Amino acid sequence: MPEYICPHCKNPIFDDEALLCLYCGESLGRSKGFISSLKYSKPKVIAVVVTILILLSFIILIMRS
Ligand SMILES: [Zn+2]
Repeated sequence: MPEYICPHCKNPIFDDEALLCLYCGESLGRSKGFISSLKYSKPKVIAVVVTILILLSFIILIMRS
């Protein structure tokens, strides 16, 4: 697992879950939470996109007939 370097004091952070630097206390600015929330919301997004596509094709079918 690669270590994370603090952008403020350049110290390596070995704690993978740490959001604050152990040395200077600054936020590490990780997008980890964002990425994991994105991962979790991905099936939802796909479901929404599929629903919209189905609705759109329905509308197109209705408009054509
Ligand atoms: Zn730091």
